Amino acid sequence: MKPFEDRIKAIRHKLEEEKVDAAYISFRYNMRYLSGFTGDAGALLITGSEAILFTDGRYTEQASSQAPDFRVIETKLDKDVVADTVSSLGIKSLTFESEHVTFASWENMTKRFKDTRLVPASGWVEKLRAKKTPEEIQAIRKAAKLADDAFSMVVSSIRPGVSERDVALELEFTMRKMGSEGVAFPIIAVSGARSSLPHGEPGDKKIEPGDFVTVDFGAVWSGYVSDCTRTFVVEPLEERHREIYEVVRRAQQAGLRAVRAGVKASEVDAAGRKVIEEAGYGQYFGHGIGHGVGLQVHESPRLGQKSEDILEPGMVVTVEPGVYIPGFGGVRIEDLVVVGDDGPEVLTSFPKDLKVLGGLER
Ligand code: ZN
Ligand code: ZN
Repeated sequence: MKPFEDRIKAIRHKLEEEKVDAAYISFRYNMRYLSGFTGDAGALLITGSEAILFTDGRYTEQASSQAPDFRVIETKLDKDVVADTVSSLGIKSLTFESEHVTFASWENMTKRFKDTRLVPASGWVEKLRAKKTPEEIQAIRKAAKLADDAFSMVVSSIRPGVSERDVALELEFTMRKMGSEGVAFPIIAVSGARSSLPHGEPGDKKIEPGDFVTVDFGAVWSGYVSDCTRTFVVEPLEERHREIYEVVRRAQQAGLRAVRAGVKASEVDAAGRKVIEEAGYGQYFGHGIGHGVGLQVHESPRLGQKSEDILEPGMVVTVEPGVYIPGFGGVRIEDLVVVGDDGPEVLTSFPKDLKVLGGLER
C-alpha cells in the first residue's frame, strides 16, 4: 500500500519540522486519506515510529483489512485507552486538528491528556490532499464521466411541467443506477427566478417556458467525487438569456485558459471575473471562481479573489463563474479540471453551447 506509506511519511516529516512528538487525526476524510479506513468513527495517532488507528468494536475488522499500515486498537475515543496509549509511548506534545475538533472533544482531551502539550494544527493533511496521485485522478475522472453519462440521459426530461425536485431525483437515481456510490452533494436543480440562488435547493416549483434551469451535480467513485454545473434555457429564448449566458460562457473560458501549474489561484478568479465585470455584471458574481475537489467536494485549494494558493500539477479544481440576477435568474457553468504544466485537462465533457430546451436546439 504505497500511497499510505508515503502519506504517513509526509506527516512524520511535518512532525520533525514542527518539533512535535505525535499527530492526532480525527477528521474522517483525513483519516481515510492517511490510512485507507473508510469508517466514520475513529482517530489516528502517528508518531515517528508508530501508526495507530483507534476505532470501536463495529469497525475493528474493517479497519484491520483496510488499513494494514496501522496497528488497530479497539476503543471509544472518549475512553482512557487513547490517553494511556499516548502516555505509554512517552508522547510529550501532540497535535490535534483545530478546525475539526469540537469543544466537547477538546474538553475531553484536556482532561485526559494531562501531561501532554496539545498543539493546535491546521491543514496538515488538507495540504497533502490538494495534490492528487494518478490513482486519485483516475477515480475523479471516472466519477466525472459517470455523472456526464447520467446527465446526458436525464437532460431530455427537463421540460415545462416537470418539478425541480423530479429533475434532481431522476439524476440521482440514474447516477446511482450507473454505479455511483452516492451523490457528491445534494443535487442543485433550480429554475426561473430561483436560478439566481447559487446553492438553491430543488423544490416543488415546476419548470416553465422562459426559465433558466441550472443543474449542479456530481458522482462518487472509490470515495472521490466530481462536480459539474450546466445551465439551459427553456424556450422561448430571450435576448437577455443569450446575453447573460454568453458572458458567463466567456468568463468560464477565460478562467480555464488561466489554469496552469505555477499560477496563483486568485489569477484564475481574476481572469473570469474581468470578463463579467467588463460586461457590467460584476455585482452579480458573488462567489469565488472555483475550489479543489477530491474526497470532499470543497477542499484545497480555493480559487477566489483572496486566495493565496498556488496551482500545482495534479491539483483537481473547478472553474465555475456565475451571474445571478435577483428576480430574473442565474447562469453558472462549471467544469472540473486537472491542473497541468501546460494547462488544464478538462474532466467534465457535457457540451457548453447555449442549449434551448423544449424547442429547436441552436
Ligand atoms: Zn458544483
Ligand atoms: Zn463546485
